[in-house]
Amino acid sequence: MSGETPRGAVTLVGGGPGAADLMTVRARDALAAADVVYHDRLAPTDDLPAWAPRAELVDVGKRPGHHRVPQEEIGRMLVSAARAGRVVVRLKGGDPYVFARGGEEVAACRAAGVSVTVVPGISSAFAVPAAAGIPVTARGVSKACTVISGHDPLTEEELAGLVGLGGTVVVLMGVGTLGHTVSGLQRRGMAPTTPTAIVEQGFGAAQRTTIASLSEVLSAAAGRGIGAPAVLVIGDVVALAAREPGTGEAAVERPGMRHVRDLAATAVG
Ligand code: SAH
Repeated sequence: MSGETPRGAVTLVGGGPGAADLMTVRARDALAAADVVYHDRLAPTDDLPAWAPRAELVDVGKRPGHHRVPQEEIGRMLVSAARAGRVVVRLKGGDPYVFARGGEEVAACRAAGVSVTVVPGISSAFAVPAAAGIPVTARGVSKACTVISGHDPLTEEELAGLVGLGGTVVVLMGVGTLGHTVSGLQRRGMAPTTPTAIVEQGFGAAQRTTIASLSEVLSAAAGRGIGAPAVLVIGDVVALAAREPGTGEAAVERPGMRHVRDLAATAVG
């Protein structure tokens, strides 16, 4: 290329929500061409040596006993690998732009003049409820689905806004703040009978669904030793899952939960 220093490019790749076959063809193509893959903890990594046979594999996610590589450092690693002429893949769980700091990494590359593209992934926000049989916008039951981070406790304004809008609420990173979220929603006027699900380890061998009313989900979660990664789903659509064959076995249905059985017969889809 006319004497210019050859310079690599960065591809941010969404790895999907935790099963090897939920990655896109474009994602697999990017991995196959990679010289180096920087991957996260929730990304599907078991098959990486086969998918990216030429690549150096670098774990930048949090592991027990290790510190996560700071975000700015990840940006620097991507830029310097690309500047060295390598074909760089940054592999994340789910979608790179859904609570995954993909925007910051793209900005770091652009600021350094490094070419960067994004391959979207199937996000756990929609796919993990689906894995538990929950149609997040079932017609006639919910015409909105708000996805919110529970990493930090929801503010009073956020709680009030969720209750005011209605529809389905999906909380990611919400295990640590579960008590605050469910008590806050009720304090702001959400019905205590609202069906609520916690779906752990979506698409993994240990996938497990816990269903209870909003007022009882905290004790149900404590009783079952709920842990991350898990998606919290709040809204009448959850009651549709409780009916579904194949998901009922692992589900706990608690008394006092509002049901939408009349809608369920006609509205799924
Ligand atoms: N970019 C990711 C989300 C990253 S935030 C995406 O689009 O899916 C991490 C949160 O995602 C976790 O705390 C959890 O709430 C959710 N999550 C990711 N994978 C999951 C899985 N397999 N099962 C349940 N929850 C999951």
